[in-house]
Amino acid sequence: MTKQTAGIHHITAFASDAQANADFYAGILGLRLVKKTVNFDAPEVYHLYFGNEMGSPGTAMTFFPFQGGRKGRVGGGQVGYTTFVVPLDALPFWEKRLDRFAIPYARTERFGETYLQFKDWDGLQLELVARKQGPNSRWSFGGVPADKAIKGFGGAVLYSIAPDKTMYTLEHLMGMERTSEDQGLVRYKAPGELGNLIDVNASVMNRGHGGSGTVHHIAWRARDVEDQEQWRSLVAEQGFQTTRIVDRQYFTSIYFREAGEILFEIATDSPGFMRDEPFETLGEKLMLPAWLEPHRAQISEGLPPLKIRVLEEDQ
Ligand code: ZN
Repeated sequence: MTKQTAGIHHITAFASDAQANADFYAGILGLRLVKKTVNFDAPEVYHLYFGNEMGSPGTAMTFFPFQGGRKGRVGGGQVGYTTFVVPLDALPFWEKRLDRFAIPYARTERFGETYLQFKDWDGLQLELVARKQGPNSRWSFGGVPADKAIKGFGGAVLYSIAPDKTMYTLEHLMGMERTSEDQGLVRYKAPGELGNLIDVNASVMNRGHGGSGTVHHIAWRARDVEDQEQWRSLVAEQGFQTTRIVDRQYFTSIYFREAGEILFEIATDSPGFMRDEPFETLGEKLMLPAWLEPHRAQISEGLPPLKIRVLEEDQ
């Protein structure tokens, strides 16, 4: 039997301003900042993790906000749309909320579901869909009560420069099931309750450019390090060049670029964001891995101020 990922672990994108990014994802979308750390490969830049109350796998939207960073172009070799899922009756609430913040959105239908599509300040393509599946978030912030809050990822729409190959990888490496087609999109299903429906645009897309407003990579779930070792062998067997297992503090990761040029990561569910902070104060303090701790003063000084705040429209 093929090995199966449960679905999306996290999605990581570029932003151009840390405060604007936090205002959008916490202030407007009502997600919890569950971890404030830095990009371990470029510690002069934050790495911000937003999610449900504890940033469970399948809920973590993460950003590298390069201050004043160059705008990217959404295109082939990227996640085209990041899909968030809200409780079944919550879409009218979100329509009103997007109106209140003057964020333009479009209502579209596919696979028999209604999606609200909109963009963040940097042009990152997002959408909301309402589903019964998946536990509600227990986080409430600003004008977003927990019973309307984003539960996590519903899935993603992938833009590939070689969709047939990307689809082959989803099915034969990641172990997803091809379920249906609609309006040029092919749907794949993973067994998890969140981040489990992946739509691939079946047309060959022109290559995008990385930069603010684009997704850097999509991470799939592995249970633990032992499971990840098995994934690493499978990835190599299919002819992809994979990294060694990298310590990301809150999970360990491997990375490889699939043949449609989308950067895939496989990340473990454990140990999670409570590894170094208690639940009550997740995300409040700048957390650094042990190897960066000696440079804390210098790193902190270089980072822009950042506040999680209720926005004016919600007061
Ligand atoms: Zn990642």
